Amino acid sequence: MNTISELLSNQRAFFKSQKTKNIAYRINILKQLKAEIEANEQAVYAALKADFNKSEFETFISEFGLVLSELNLVINNLKRWIKPKRVKSSMLTFPSKSYIYKEPYGAVLVIAPWNYPFLLAIEPLIMAIAAGNTVIVKPSELTKNTSQLIANIIDKVFPENLATTIQGGVDVTSELLEQKWDYIFFTGSIPVGKIVAKAAAKHLTPVTLELGGKSPCIIDDTVDVKLIARRLTWGKFLNAGQTCIAPDYLIVKASVKLQLIEALKIEITKQYGDNPEKSPDFPRVINNKNLLRLENMLEGANIIFGGTINKKSRYCAPTLIDEPDLTSNIMQDEIFGPILPILSYNNKNDIETIIWNFEKPLALYIFSNTKPFIKQILNKYSFGGGAINDSLIHFGNHRLPFGGVGASGMGVYHGKHGFDTFSHNKAIIKRDNWADPSIRYAPYKGKLNLIKKVFKLFS
Ligand code: NAD
Repeated sequence: MNTISELLSNQRAFFKSQKTKNIAYRINILKQLKAEIEANEQAVYAALKADFNKSEFETFISEFGLVLSELNLVINNLKRWIKPKRVKSSMLTFPSKSYIYKEPYGAVLVIAPWNYPFLLAIEPLIMAIAAGNTVIVKPSELTKNTSQLIANIIDKVFPENLATTIQGGVDVTSELLEQKWDYIFFTGSIPVGKIVAKAAAKHLTPVTLELGGKSPCIIDDTVDVKLIARRLTWGKFLNAGQTCIAPDYLIVKASVKLQLIEALKIEITKQYGDNPEKSPDFPRVINNKNLLRLENMLEGANIIFGGTINKKSRYCAPTLIDEPDLTSNIMQDEIFGPILPILSYNNKNDIETIIWNFEKPLALYIFSNTKPFIKQILNKYSFGGGAINDSLIHFGNHRLPFGGVGASGMGVYHGKHGFDTFSHNKAIIKRDNWADPSIRYAPYKGKLNLIKKVFKLFS
């Protein structure tokens, strides 16, 4: 087997051969990828079921279906996206024509997490290939079945010098990060994001960091409590809360808090039954380490619903916590599990105190029917993206860029934004020869006032 540096240097040689610059070649291989993924639909469901009891329905809506729609989008639009884009020239460069060329970076490294293991490995791969790069994908070591399936699919479709996978944990990722890449796309936790950024900085490699954080959900007293309880139950407990943009905690107007809690209890039971451990639709926590982490978060918390943990089956019940202190365990780090703390507010200062206690989150959700309140929240707080009167759904629109800000990450993708992420914008001006104004040429004597006027007129 080739070592990491051999694989990378083979990919670099392939990139230099210019084969990936051919659009028909890219589209053709993406079509093959689509066919292979479609042929493996049942295998994808089986792998995710085996890895953490994810249901076929959830796998389809949150992974498989999204991958297929990205593939369709790119196959149908790549020819248009890749065309050099003509932009207006400035009068200062008269006479000329200006263009933006899309140029692949070269050798790309994609590092994926475990929580949406299929989607978060394959989607960056699709866009990196569409943009003309070579790719090495490092899927998560925690989802053995899905990661092996990803490796099989990639091996079957791509020549190794165009795209391949390398499997392994921290040691393998560390070795990958020692190499010089032309682009690194990382999805994972904030601490590992910092390790990736540091390794990339050594070689001045550009990075996208898709990280996490504590995403709040603000609820005022103008809402339909039953409706939002239904939407929140879906957004929080999908994937058993192991979603980077899941509502991490609620900040609810004190006057509707009790009503909301009762509605949430009814909704959770409606969606997952009296005992969610028996529900075929409720996933498990990925491993014992994460289960222990969640158990520690529950220590000393005021549990008002759920709270059961079964170590044998790695089950953590959908759980509601009432009014945790901002210094308590549960409010320290991203929860990343099926536990929902509920804080209350009386006025806008209370909201500010809570939100500014944390770094800029990946998502923020507002449930309200009051336009000025919504506007104020959107204006005041910085966060990656979000939704009004729902959660998670902004992830599903490929026209919206997806990514964090500050500690929740840098860079965006999804749809054309993904293609742009993996492309360098090469700026080119083509100078026309039919005129050559002499003003810029030395000797400059007597030209300064005239050039100042030109700048004022045309800049
Ligand atoms: P993680 O950071 O532990 O692991 C991500 C990847 O990094 C894995 O492939 C892993 O092998 C590798 N890795 C782990 N430790 C490393 C180290 N010390 N050095 C080098 N590489 C290392 O994240 P995770 O537990 O797989 O995923 C959960 C996190 O990912 C959460 O914080 C979640 O919010 C975030 N996430 C973000 C998004 C997003 O789109 N922004 C999506 C999914 C998950």
